[in-house]
Amino acid sequence: MGTVKKEVKEYHHPSCGIFFDADKILIEENSVYQNIKVFENEFYGNVLVLDGLVQTTEKDEFFYHEMLAHPALSIHPNPRDVLIIGGGDGGVLKEVLRYPVHSVRLVEIDSRVLEVCKEYFSWMTPALADKRVELVIGDGKEFLQEIKMSFDVVLVDSSEPIGPSVSLHTGEFYQSIKARLKPGGVAAAQVGSPFFHKMFLGRMAADLRTVFRRVAFYTGPVPTYPGGLWCYIFLSDRMIPQQVEKEIPAGLRYFNADILRAAFALPAFVVEDVKKGMIR
Ligand code: SAM
Repeated sequence: MGTVKKEVKEYHHPSCGIFFDADKILIEENSVYQNIKVFENEFYGNVLVLDGLVQTTEKDEFFYHEMLAHPALSIHPNPRDVLIIGGGDGGVLKEVLRYPVHSVRLVEIDSRVLEVCKEYFSWMTPALADKRVELVIGDGKEFLQEIKMSFDVVLVDSSEPIGPSVSLHTGEFYQSIKARLKPGGVAAAQVGSPFFHKMFLGRMAADLRTVFRRVAFYTGPVPTYPGGLWCYIFLSDRMIPQQVEKEIPAGLRYFNADILRAAFALPAFVVEDVKKGMIR
């Protein structure tokens, strides 16, 4: 497509945000579910944007994908069957495949996200060719209501709570996850920026505490996400050991055993919000 340098902006608040110079818009289209754009940036490489929000970039993807996948997978003593809800860019999938899992299902509502990412993000082709992977094109909530199989680890890699992912940000959805976890199973999800999305985090925490016995926030940096610091949630009905139960796969660039322990130590301003009852 075009070769003219263009500025791509994402507003994190009506008054501020992030911008990129797009050296080349590689694709831009409206799928049935959302606007999909991939552009090339000199520093970040290829950047995926859905409905105007940056989802991933070639350069900084590891921060987010490692932190969504590895805490749950390294804390669970023997993750065999893994479910990813959303995650059509394949970044979390590539991290899950580093473990000797038996099966990984990825349930993505928008087949165009998978196709576009296969073309523009190099990790997709080997991940999709892996025999352990089964792709399901469909709604994550409906999938959980219909499937009979149970999982050791469920990872929710949804987009922001707008458009098709609204149904993935409800207590009812997390009830369905719990119902499909094997005994000792764990789940993790991204819950947004602790700086920009405080109220949303608080609501999620309140909902999830009615579903799981153990609900723990953890954080990690993502340079291109609002605020640069991202929050995740770890869900389980058993104690959260916060320690690695097995050898961590080689080749990771952010996650390690020290990061796992550190990530659950919440920053002072988040602790303050917890005290205020926003995040209980
Ligand atoms: N890391 C990301 C971010 O920035 O928030 C999430 C990336 S991933 C590409 C999110 C995916 O979830 C999208 O491809 C979107 O199509 C998918 N999705 C949204 N709603 C869904 C639903 N109800 N069921 C399954 N997948 C869904």
